Amino acid sequence: MSGAQRVWALGRGLGTTFGYLFRRRATVNYPEKERPVPERFRGLHILDRHDDGLERCVGCELCQAACPAHCITVEAAENDPERPVSPGERHAWRYEIDLLRCIFCGFCEEACPTGAIQLTPRHDLVGFTRSEFLVDKRWLTVPAPAAPGFPPDRAETGGEGGRRAG
Ligand code: SF4
Ligand code: SF4
Repeated sequence: MSGAQRVWALGRGLGTTFGYLFRRRATVNYPEKERPVPERFRGLHILDRHDDGLERCVGCELCQAACPAHCITVEAAENDPERPVSPGERHAWRYEIDLLRCIFCGFCEEACPTGAIQLTPRHDLVGFTRSEFLVDKRWLTVPAPAAPGFPPDRAETGGEGGRRAG
């Protein structure tokens, strides 16, 4: 390659580099800024409650049966009529999802007859150990409302950033 060709190649390379100075940035300053996710994006799960604070999940295990990745574990218990956890006869006393096996297909959400399990647009899934991705009912259940007559001990079963199972 002659000297003139080298200078020409260098000039072209620098031209490409400087061209990017005036283009719109392709990256965002995550996590301070986030890109909006598509409308039908399926991210991390929640277990929802009714307006009165009772859990929507009735422990029917349909989500567990529908899950193609076998990553949901539900164990049901009878509700105490004096202090029901859910409006049904039973509630889920154990509910776990292994998020590392989940393929976020949304079948659990579709199978649920009460709208309890829902996939949200949240996608901030980070951790250092496998057990951090095995989430339990406390981690999944949305915070209870501070409704009059809602016992504080049951209000503690939900909450953002709750325990991971295992
Ligand atoms: S989104 Fe799909 S893979 Fe994940 S827990 Fe629900 S049914 Fe299972
Ligand atoms: S989340 Fe829905 S489908 Fe799964 S056990 Fe609870 S009520 Fe049944």
